[in-house]
Amino acid sequence: MANRRPVIAGNWKMFKTVSEAEDYAVKFLDEVKDVTDLDIVLCAPFTALHALKNELEESIVHIGAQNMAWADQGAYTGEISAQMLLDVACTYVIIGHSERREMFGETDQEIAKKVQQAIAVGLTPILCCGENLNLREEGQAVERVQGQVSRALSGLSIEDLSRIIVAYEPIWAIGTGKTASSQDAQEMCAAIRATLTELMGPTAEKVPILYGGSVKAENIGELMKEPDVDGALVGGASLDPLSFAKLIKNA
Ligand code: PEP
Repeated sequence: MANRRPVIAGNWKMFKTVSEAEDYAVKFLDEVKDVTDLDIVLCAPFTALHALKNELEESIVHIGAQNMAWADQGAYTGEISAQMLLDVACTYVIIGHSERREMFGETDQEIAKKVQQAIAVGLTPILCCGENLNLREEGQAVERVQGQVSRALSGLSIEDLSRIIVAYEPIWAIGTGKTASSQDAQEMCAAIRATLTELMGPTAEKVPILYGGSVKAENIGELMKEPDVDGALVGGASLDPLSFAKLIKNA
């Protein structure tokens, strides 16, 4: 890895009440408090973020959200703004997760606006991209993923681009128990880096690219050996504090 600090981010999705989040944070922090060689992020539901702020602010565990609005503020019923995330000590936000693209109709254009808004307030966006099984079987996976990345990042300055994280998450591997092989993950992460290089030149070497899709304590070590895989976005295996801490220690 070219001098990039690894990142392991957990995505709790729509799981955990406030008391469950508090309990998790205490146990998890105790397990990972001595980890120094990578950045750890917990992306929690909006309702649990304040509890995580109370437990984890100023600790080595960073707090993230799973989505945000592209607007600053105003009449957007049901939305949460980037400023509101800062207010609960978030420093990261997942943008364009495949579940949001597929189930809630998020478009590349909206995702691009969210990335810009996140960067404008100082949040680190974790931009998700990934192909479905049909596209992979038709040999169009690279084209789809590179297109998603360039459409989401169009219009950003090199300085802004240097503040993003990209997560490659093949849809067919999310929550299915099927992990992409380390080689498939590497090939796509390298293709993403090529797109980043077109957009931002050599600074692309500084952008962490994560793999996501059924990552567990047993396979993280293999994935992390690949030169362009700089960490992981972890769904199911982040839900238990002790298991997730083990995954992090194996990274
Ligand atoms: C995810 O949803 O970001 C994810 C990678 O899920 P899982 O690890 O459960 O496949």
